[in-house]
Amino acid sequence: MRRLPIYFLIDVSESMVGDPIQQVEEGLATIIQTLKKDPHAMETVWVSIIIFAGQAKTLVSLQEIASFYPPKFPIGSGTSLSKGLGHLMFELRKNIVKTTAELKGDWKPIVFLLTDGVPTDDTKTAISEWKQNWQRSANLVAVSFGNEADNNVLSELTEIVLNFKNTGKDSYKQFFKWVTDSIKTSSVSVESNTSGFELAKLDENVISKIDLSKSKTAAQLIDNNFVVLSAKCQNSKRPYLIKYKKKIATTDFGGINLDTLTYRLVGAFQVDNTYFELSDNSNTTFKINTEELLGAPSCPCCGNQFAFAVCNCGKLHCIGEEDESTCPWCGNIGSYGSGESGFDVNRTQG
Ligand SMILES: [Zn+2]
Ligand SMILES: [Zn+2]
Repeated sequence: MRRLPIYFLIDVSESMVGDPIQQVEEGLATIIQTLKKDPHAMETVWVSIIIFAGQAKTLVSLQEIASFYPPKFPIGSGTSLSKGLGHLMFELRKNIVKTTAELKGDWKPIVFLLTDGVPTDDTKTAISEWKQNWQRSANLVAVSFGNEADNNVLSELTEIVLNFKNTGKDSYKQFFKWVTDSIKTSSVSVESNTSGFELAKLDENVISKIDLSKSKTAAQLIDNNFVVLSAKCQNSKRPYLIKYKKKIATTDFGGINLDTLTYRLVGAFQVDNTYFELSDNSNTTFKINTEELLGAPSCPCCGNQFAFAVCNCGKLHCIGEEDESTCPWCGNIGSYGSGESGFDVNRTQG
């Protein structure tokens, strides 16, 4: 039986922390569940999941639907699309059975790339390798989750760049149903020997094609749609992330409208130690002033009231009622006053 390999290449950078990554996790589980009931898909579809943040890794190696168990998704720092692509190409080279004179190999693999951000690294080399070796022998669908994902970069990889719009509570559900339907239609069309790749009909309210002639985003080293701060719980020593989302507010100053950029709290989220494995630690010099940040969370690990204490070492941790606090990063013991004005803290790449 010829296989139809489906690869999910998924951005697990910090901007995905919280609801988005949970929706992706549930979405992938639903895809697999649904495909298990589809005889065509069960026969031909094999699935693999690759994740990337500052580093990339295989979360689930290529396997048949029947033995597939939906994984938990970790979070990392940075959005290294080039490492994600590099890892994807490594997996493709390793797994794809080529057609020879004696052997019918795999159907053209389909890759779903899901990203919500702007690559924080140079993608040139990886993209030219993709173009040279895989653009014709794989079908890639790039889905941008963010308002300002770098569509220029995505459009170099593929002609199919789609924008996912999270407009209602069922948006994610509908999106993953569309992915499932696309896999089903493709698994049928390979057998009738047409192009072997057929996307399901798009619901324009949820997912739409991006007009690539219009979008222009400059490459940058940091994702500015979100500010994400990395912290550790003083009690449990576990890492957590504090996430803020960009908000432009227009204020009327005596007849003159001024746009001010602030970041509003989305929430604080526990992550596990995989976070450090998946992070690119070469860039740690990004700063944000706390005056630009609206809202302070409590600690998601231990419930301490204040998740936003800054140690002399520059790192963040939670504090409670205790007189003296111990920094879970450097071990420094001290007491904290509350700052009067804004101060700079290190932010992550997102
Ligand atoms: Zn805590
Ligand atoms: Zn410290």
